[in-house]
Amino acid sequence: MSANTAIAIDLGGTQLRVALVEGNRLLERAALPTDTAAGPAGILLQINRLVDQLIGQVSGRTRANIAGIGMSCAGPINTETGTATDIPTLPGWNDFPLCEELSRQTGLPARVENDGIAAALGEWRHGAGRGARNMVYLTVSTGIGGGAVVDGRLLRGHKGIAGHIGHMKMAQDGPVCHCGVVGCFEALASGTALQQRAMAAMEAATSPYLAASAERGAVDARNVFDGARAGDAHCLNLVADEAMYLGQGITSAIHMFSPERVVLGGGLSHGFDLLALGIHDVIRRDAMMPFRTVPVVAAELGDDSGLMGAATLILDPKHG
Ligand SMILES: [Zn+2]
Repeated sequence: MSANTAIAIDLGGTQLRVALVEGNRLLERAALPTDTAAGPAGILLQINRLVDQLIGQVSGRTRANIAGIGMSCAGPINTETGTATDIPTLPGWNDFPLCEELSRQTGLPARVENDGIAAALGEWRHGAGRGARNMVYLTVSTGIGGGAVVDGRLLRGHKGIAGHIGHMKMAQDGPVCHCGVVGCFEALASGTALQQRAMAAMEAATSPYLAASAERGAVDARNVFDGARAGDAHCLNLVADEAMYLGQGITSAIHMFSPERVVLGGGLSHGFDLLALGIHDVIRRDAMMPFRTVPVVAAELGDDSGLMGAATLILDPKHG
């Protein structure tokens, strides 16, 4: 049993999620809002509490039964050294020896991974990327992250930070990215970018549907998708623009990695049915001939891609 059970952690800037995973099954889960103000020491205490809680929920388990602890963390993390470098969403983690401290405080063997790469690993081994020797995973939410599998191997690169697909430069002007640079794929195609375009459409009073949504609260990507499903012309235009930006970035990723398929996850995948046609149109139009038939498919694990990837680091080290 021990070699088959792991603790998986998904540490983001807003949520800390922990799960007990046996083989390819997620047995139990627990979560807390991330105590970002407490810094790494406080968050490691939160992790320890959640691990105890989880193990207590499954009868007959103790820490001695657990093979190890795998963590997906908002990056960038240098996974060659296990050190957090400068994480924008987690202040105070500069040069923190994350892997070493995680292992010391939990008493378990530990591995850490950048969140985009961990989610790619989860989808590759347990989700929509199963069976592929080459795939690209993209998560499109507040930002855009990702990871790639090339020739049957998870791509990590120097310092373990390959796959920052969201920061491909796509324009010389336009909105400023979370990284501080103008014109990144993320600045144009993330959920934040879609929300900003929706806010502009609402303020210009071009969309009565979004104006009505705004009266019930802030306008976001979900409102745009709901509006498009209801046939609102302005929301349909916003969806078409979003699909165009996503299609352009995905086409570049296809040219770089030559995947058999692209897996799209994150919050915007809730609108996958609306976006897929436009994304494929751009690929068929702009990709070089041998790449034009690469399909884009929806992720299968939802919010659990990162957790399943984190568990895979421990349970399937040959692939993770
Ligand atoms: Zn950027």
